[in-house]
Amino acid sequence: MAIIDDLIQIVGPERASDDKTVRYAYSRDSSFITGLPDYVVRPVSTEEVAKIVSLASQHRIPIVPRGNGSGMEGGCVPLHGGIVLDMHNMDKILEVDTGSLYAVVEPGVIHAHLNARLGEQGFFFAPDPASTDFCTIGGMIGTNASGMTCLKYGDTRKSVLGLEVVLPDGTVINTGAKTVKSDCGYNLTALIVGADGTLGVVTKAILKIIPRPRARATVTAYFDEVEKIEEAVASIFANGIIPAACELLDRPVIRIINRYKPEIALPDVDAILIFNLEGSAAAVEEEVDGVVSSCKKAGAIEVKAAATKEEADALWEGRRSVGSAIYRLDPQKAGPNIGGDYGVPIRRLAEMLREVRRIAEESGITMVAFGHVGDGNLHTHMAVNVLDEEELARAEKAGDAIYEAALKLGGTTTPEHGIGAAKIRWVREESKSAYPLMRAIKKVFDPQNIMNPGKIFEIS
Ligand SMILES: Cc1cc2nc3c(=O)[nH]c(=O)nc-3n(C[C@H](O)[C@H](O)[C@H](O)COP(=O)(O)OP(=O)(O)OC[C@H]3O[C@@H](n4cnc5c(N)ncnc54)[C@H](O)[C@@H]3O)c2cc1C
Repeated sequence: MAIIDDLIQIVGPERASDDKTVRYAYSRDSSFITGLPDYVVRPVSTEEVAKIVSLASQHRIPIVPRGNGSGMEGGCVPLHGGIVLDMHNMDKILEVDTGSLYAVVEPGVIHAHLNARLGEQGFFFAPDPASTDFCTIGGMIGTNASGMTCLKYGDTRKSVLGLEVVLPDGTVINTGAKTVKSDCGYNLTALIVGADGTLGVVTKAILKIIPRPRARATVTAYFDEVEKIEEAVASIFANGIIPAACELLDRPVIRIINRYKPEIALPDVDAILIFNLEGSAAAVEEEVDGVVSSCKKAGAIEVKAAATKEEADALWEGRRSVGSAIYRLDPQKAGPNIGGDYGVPIRRLAEMLREVRRIAEESGITMVAFGHVGDGNLHTHMAVNVLDEEELARAEKAGDAIYEAALKLGGTTTPEHGIGAAKIRWVREESKSAYPLMRAIKKVFDPQNIMNPGKIFEIS
């Protein structure tokens, strides 16, 4: 029997396809990496996933789990064909227990939908990617996504208590527990979070949830030199304050936000830091004073707290719009994600930002920098015409130079977007001594190398 017939027998004709148009729709994510699957299947239960994976194992066919394809590094792109498992029909919130601080969800739940549901009970799931409206919990687990609030609340890994996973031979395992703490042997939950779907298919997740803060304030600080933000951030920490969010916009980003959303009217300065302070009303008031005085001491031209919720919301809307506004940088050059996600220790931020500007100047490529600087995470976007081979090569060289600089400064080449196919070279460089052990672990889980092959490790 043909494989498509076996797949149809498992999920029915409506949810399995080998049609070329359907396959094309699953051939890319938010990177420029492409690969055509042979089959697309949309399971609705763990049992179906286990049967599909067993079938793939029997025939040694690649299996590629996919959330909503918003990943930036080609993680869900089927580089070696096989079956794409579109998980977004598994989108049930199965249990919410606010008294025990957990929720159990299926992997296809959209992040914003989960937080809307938890919000009704005064709770939230803390990791906060800018892609909240469309990324899935499974995709966040695959990439260990984070975002704006990870400085205070941690990345996805810190908020996953346990998992149900279908292993590459079709076996179903459970890791972790519905408790905030568990010391039960090796931490397989933490290993599978951030594994880019290379160790198994996540079919359920136990997530840690926390009460929404009672009060929140937004503060903005304007700087005439981007390097001054390093001192501001370090001095806020030294003042005993961990903001919920601490975001950087550099001058070119400020200008494109103003072009995209003129009503926000940000001042034309070299850099802006936007902070959120969250907690009890008294603590937030005290923290606002601390942030204002630290930023002033670090040389901010002006620091101010948003007077109204509407003003604060507009600022955050501006920050969240960067992903869309960025393409206004040069509409002819909506370039790929090159040198886009890296992090350095806070005390190396000024040096890193200087390096980025130097690399931009030397390469002749227009670049903007922004990001979650409270945890040292920067994003660069380059305006590149992908049809111009020489320009693309120059941009790629500049991207390499950015990652090399981040490593030299004691940082990381992948703080939140995962590794996928795009960053294999960099995980090898950054984790030189540990990489062989990672490969050995992959072999234990997946001796046939059918689970998302060509991600984290090249196919040898
Ligand atoms: C405009 C924009 C803004 C963004 N902002 C942020 C941000 O602030 N922070 C951030 O961290 N990221 C951000 N991202 C990147 C992206 O949204 C995240 O990586 C997100 O977690 C991917 O979710 P997804 O559902 O689209 O996953 P996909 O892209 O479909 O998959 C991502 C990875 O997870 C694996 N995977 C998916 N489902 C499963 C499963 N059930 N079991 C096992 N593995 C699975 C896939 O194989 C793949 O390796 C942004 C992207 C865009 C386009």
